[in-house]
Amino acid sequence: MTSKLVDTLINANLVPLKPYESARRLFSGGQDWLNANESPFANPYDIDASNFNRYPSCQPDKVINGYAAYAGIDKSQLIVTRGADEGIELLIRTFCTPGEDNILICPPTYGMYAISAETCDVGIKRVPLNTDFSLDVAGICATDNVNLVFICAPNNPTGTQVSKADLTAVIEHFADTALVVVDEAYIEFDMDNTWANKLAQYPNLVVLRTLSKAFALAGLRCGFTIANEDIIQALLKVIAPYPIPEPVAQIVAQALTPENIDRMQQQVAFLNSERTTLQAELAKRPGVEMVGDVKANYILFRHSECAQIMQYLVSQGMLIRDQSKQLNLQNCLRVTIGSAEQNQRLLSLLDAYFAQAG
Ligand code: PMP
Repeated sequence: MTSKLVDTLINANLVPLKPYESARRLFSGGQDWLNANESPFANPYDIDASNFNRYPSCQPDKVINGYAAYAGIDKSQLIVTRGADEGIELLIRTFCTPGEDNILICPPTYGMYAISAETCDVGIKRVPLNTDFSLDVAGICATDNVNLVFICAPNNPTGTQVSKADLTAVIEHFADTALVVVDEAYIEFDMDNTWANKLAQYPNLVVLRTLSKAFALAGLRCGFTIANEDIIQALLKVIAPYPIPEPVAQIVAQALTPENIDRMQQQVAFLNSERTTLQAELAKRPGVEMVGDVKANYILFRHSECAQIMQYLVSQGMLIRDQSKQLNLQNCLRVTIGSAEQNQRLLSLLDAYFAQAG
């Protein structure tokens, strides 16, 4: 009975959609979770439940002040959301009219820009990255009727950074027509290339951040949208109340103390150095081609037996992510940098695979 009612009532635009294939949805078992670009490090934080009978603040001061200080911006230039994913959807709902407006994305890139646009009945214009994963600046600038341009930097899943000159050209081209959203989910792994310090220069710049990656807090679901105050004020009209539960706010406040930021930065340095080691080791394995100049906490490699490798690793509890269906990423697998033990186990398992395959 209900399914008939659902069929009758559902927004017809949503019928063909499938839920986002998150890493956690694709696999539930396994011992080494190297498929969602999470941090391998555990956290030491405490929670005080004494005020849980009250609603939390909608934009908790302890979160906003702490993150504004960390990002080097004014607190009026910040909104905290339920993960960066909510920021993506909020931008689309706030700045695009359903059935009329479009966003621009540059595949292969993060999947949620397209999914959020589709669920909001907003059009998607795709300007693929060049084959070296740089932006097709001419193609982007030749695209009209877009309200939001999503640029992921470093890009997921290629890990590549965007050139300053290219992104500047894009932001300037759209100065009077669109917001350019730079998704910096992985920026801590390449902090020199942040755009968060350029808001004064570019009124149409928006920067997305998250605590899910370098801060090792994916389970909290906490992200930030950084932009000039008029943009933030528009987003505040649309966001549902209380996006950040009180326990989350308490933990974020602890994560943003100088000593915990310092600890996070040491973990980032460790993961970056593990990435370099893992890349060099993987490149020695038969038939493995490393892909992209990765500046994030994952790597991408190509192998003609990618499906079999994936299947073997998963059978051994080593979860990685198949990217082979993404544009220009045929035969590519993405692996999150894990703990030293996990990275070593990955190499040992690959050696075992090649020994039995060869
Ligand atoms: N942007 C990119 C590029 C990502 O890879 C992710 C998460 N995989 C997100 C945004 C979403 O982050 P959050 O966990 O904060 O929703």
